[in-house]
Amino acid sequence: MACRQVKAKRELIRVVRDADVRLSVDLRGKAPGRGAYLCPDDACLVRGIAEGALGRALALTIDEATKLRLRDELAAGAESRRT
Ligand SMILES: [Zn+2]
Repeated sequence: MACRQVKAKRELIRVVRDADVRLSVDLRGKAPGRGAYLCPDDACLVRGIAEGALGRALALTIDEATKLRLRDELAAGAESRRT
């Protein structure tokens, strides 16, 4: 868990590290690879990266480009949930 809040897994989103060590937001929660759970909001994602919790959970360093891409993916996922 890359967040201090305790919630049911179904309320969270999963960020997954695939075999190519590429991170993505796993909106269905079923992608293979090492994952970390976060609240489905931008603030939690940004804080998790800034504080290093997400990088620690996934055992890598999250660079700026990856951070921007994850934020985009999260926003896109939030968009699709509303429709
Ligand atoms: Zn959170």
